[in-house]
Order: sequence, then C-alpha cells, then structure tokens
Amino acid sequence: MGFFLPLSMLTYTGMEKKYIPTIGLEIHADLKTKSKMFCGCKNDPDEEKPNVNVCPVCMGHPGTLPFPNKEAIKHVLKVGVAVGGKNADFTEFDRKNYFYPDIPKGYQISQYKYPLVSGGNIKGVELTRIHLEEDTAKSSHDKGDYSLVDFNRSSLPLMELVTEPVIHDAKTAGDFARELQLILRYLDVSEANMEKGEMRVEANISISDDPNVLGTKVEVKNLNSFKVVEKAIEYEISRHIALLEAGEKVVQETRGFDENTGKTFSQRTKEDAHDYRYFPEPDIPKFKLSLIPEFSVENLKKELPELPEEKRKRLREVYGIKEADVEVYVQNLSIANFFERTIENFCDDKECVILASNYIVSDLMGLMKTSDGSFGQLFPSDFGKLIQLLKAGKLSSRGTKDTLAILFTEGGDPEKIAEEKGWILKNDPEALKKILEKIVSENPKVVEEFKSGKDSAVNSLIGVAMKETKGSASPQAIRETLIAILNS
Ligand code: ZN
Ligand code: MN
Repeated sequence: MGFFLPLSMLTYTGMEKKYIPTIGLEIHADLKTKSKMFCGCKNDPDEEKPNVNVCPVCMGHPGTLPFPNKEAIKHVLKVGVAVGGKNADFTEFDRKNYFYPDIPKGYQISQYKYPLVSGGNIKGVELTRIHLEEDTAKSSHDKGDYSLVDFNRSSLPLMELVTEPVIHDAKTAGDFARELQLILRYLDVSEANMEKGEMRVEANISISDDPNVLGTKVEVKNLNSFKVVEKAIEYEISRHIALLEAGEKVVQETRGFDENTGKTFSQRTKEDAHDYRYFPEPDIPKFKLSLIPEFSVENLKKELPELPEEKRKRLREVYGIKEADVEVYVQNLSIANFFERTIENFCDDKECVILASNYIVSDLMGLMKTSDGSFGQLFPSDFGKLIQLLKAGKLSSRGTKDTLAILFTEGGDPEKIAEEKGWILKNDPEALKKILEKIVSENPKVVEEFKSGKDSAVNSLIGVAMKETKGSASPQAIRETLIAILNS
C-alpha cells in the first residue's frame, strides 16, 4: 500500500484526495481496592487458583443484592479531579443487558446516563466521560470441546474512560494511553498493567476526505500493549484509505488485532451489534455525592499526589535538567526520589545538579538494569559525595564511573574507595612538576625531538607520566605542566 504518503501527522494523501483519520479511545482499567465492586470478596487480580474469591453476588445468583464499593467510587472521583473533569453530584448505576457465560446474571452493572465524571483533558485530548462498572468473569475457550469460567475477576471494580474523537494519529493515541497509565499509577488507583489485562484499550477509527464529516467507524478491540495500540491504528488507517482509493466502502464493524500478522481482522459486523437495553439498576439507591464530605472536590484535591504533568513542570523549572532526564524521572518515581534526595543535600549549584543527573540517567540506570532495577548497595548520600569528588576535580569521569560501580555492588565511602584504588586525582602542581621533571631528564631523545619542532613527541612523555602517576593526575594537567617544563 505504498501509493500514499503521510503529508503531516494529520493528513494522508491518496491519488487525488487527502484523508484525515479520526480516532477516539475507550479504555477500561481495573481498580485497586480491598474488595470487589458489589460484594465483600477479595479483589486479588494475581490469584491464580480459579473461583477462590467468589460469592453468590459476584457469581450472579438470582435474588442477591449488590452493595457498592465506596473506595472504588472515590478512586474514580479522584481521577476526575486529576484530569480536570466535572464530578457528578447526582449519579446512578444502570444495567447493561446482554447474554454471555462470563456474566451469568444477564447484565453488567455499569453507568449510562449519569457517569461519575464528565469532561476533562489529558495531554490536550478531551475526555467525554469516566464511569464505574463491574468487570466480567474470565472464560477460557482453549480447552477443546468445553469452556471454563473463572469468577475471581467477576465484579472487580472497573473504570471506563471515553475520549472525544479528537485524536488524528496513532502516536497521539499511544501517548494518551501511556499518560493515563501514569496518572492511574501516581494516584495509586490501578496498576494499569496492559500485559496483565488490568488496562484494556479499544480504538474507534474512521477516515474522511471531508474535515467536517466523520467517515465510517471501525472499532478495534483487545489491544494489549501501547505498541499494539499504535500498530493497529496505523494498520486501520492504511486499510481504510486503500479501500476508499479503490472505490470501496469501509464496513462498520468490530475488529481484533493479530500480533503475528500485524493486521486487524473482522470479528463482528454492525448487524449483530448489541442493543443493551440500559435501565437504572433497581437494587442500588441513587446517589447525591455532595452529601458525602469525603467526596468533595476540595477534599479529593488535598489527597492528590504531585501529578505527572506537575512533576514535569517542576523538574524543568527548578532544576533545568534535560527534557529526556525529566521524562526518566516522571516515569520512574524511585529514581526521581533518588535524584532529588541527592541534590537536596549535596548540590548547591546547577553544574552539580546536571552532573548528578547525567550520572544517574546514564551510569546508575545502566547498573540498575543488572539488578532488577534496585539501587544495589548505593545510597543517595554516597552518590552525592561521589558527585562532589567529580565536581572538585578529584575524580576523572572514568574514576567516577568505576567508583560508582563499586559503590553499587559493595557500598562504602566513595573517597576511601577511590583513594584505595589510586583513582583520586592529586593535581598537586608541585608534586606533579617533580615527577614530570624527572621524566624529562630521563628522556633526552624525546625532548630533543620536541625542541626540533615535533610537537607530537610530547604525547609519548604524557604516556609515561600517566603510567608514573597511576591516573592520579588529569591528562590535561600533565600536558600543560609538561609543555611548560619543555618550553622553559
Ligand atoms: Zn463476591
Ligand atoms: Mn465498559
């Protein structure tokens, strides 16, 4: 399909037309709570033994009564405040009716008309709504001539977030999902691990050659990583354009994504789409959230941590570090804390902050990869002292890296380690001068070469001096002092 080229992020050029892709996302995330959404069963997504955390309510037995989970409602309201949405005052739960073995009561308790949150914005992408519902059980159809259903996941609190159709390229969609995951983790309301199915993305994609009209929408489901979200959207954009260019029509349908082929495939057409017959859940009273002081925006705000976007802004403005470093810290709070603890106590100027950040992001993080992301035996105080040695010119960059590696595996005092290893740069001008004068007197031939105009002769003397001083003087100091001696 190489006959069209992306002109910009927004438009794709066919033979005679320009096409604009429009994408909206629907994202489900399992919430972290002690118990399930409508019963007292344990919310344990890691439970491997099937049907352990179950009761008549979450197994959908007739006549049982659901009892809403306050912690889950609060989680969604917190997300609402974090993304600048409008939290509901009046809200209710609804029944979304459909038949499937993983939902034996014949309906999912969800929210329809009155979601907990309306509007909001993440990275410039406007949100339509965020509501709360229950997750379904998990069925396994790969057993041969029978299927199995595990109800451990049934009725886990599930947050559903819907964006406006305002995204126009795959990368923005992927970045949106990445940022949402980060926000959910900062708020500690969900692990949102896509590979584990704790966060699931669906993309609605359409293509149009008229900026004022949306094309036929295709929904791609079960996207289980950020890369897959991007690949599936890119594939769909190409597929739609190829169809339109060939004079064919895009069929409104639900599609899946096959990671092996990198292609989407048809799962369900519009003809067999559900009519869910939503109606208010009669077994749960309606809510007036303003009656619960704990749920007030004012109170929720007090409980919010520093959010990713606030952290980016602060790190940028307060420390003036590289954008790539800022992002490393925003994505990894333990490394961010290590950085901030180091510089709070050991840096009083920008040079020190930048040095510390450079060695954390390149060298320290390299070491951490070898130890499952732990800091090994390294503490911020020792790392801070190490950076001070570097900044004071007592350690070369090589010496700093080598001392860091020892601090990481064995711990200890950086100055003592570097001293023992002979890595401390003496840079004592008098001592260095004496050593160099001795070398000069022992190498009359080389001195002669230098004096007869061969400047490079000095390099062999530097080599000798480096050996002699065992790296305790910087090459720069050796070169300068040598030239001064030779010219005197
Ligand atoms: Zn239960
Ligand atoms: Mn849903």
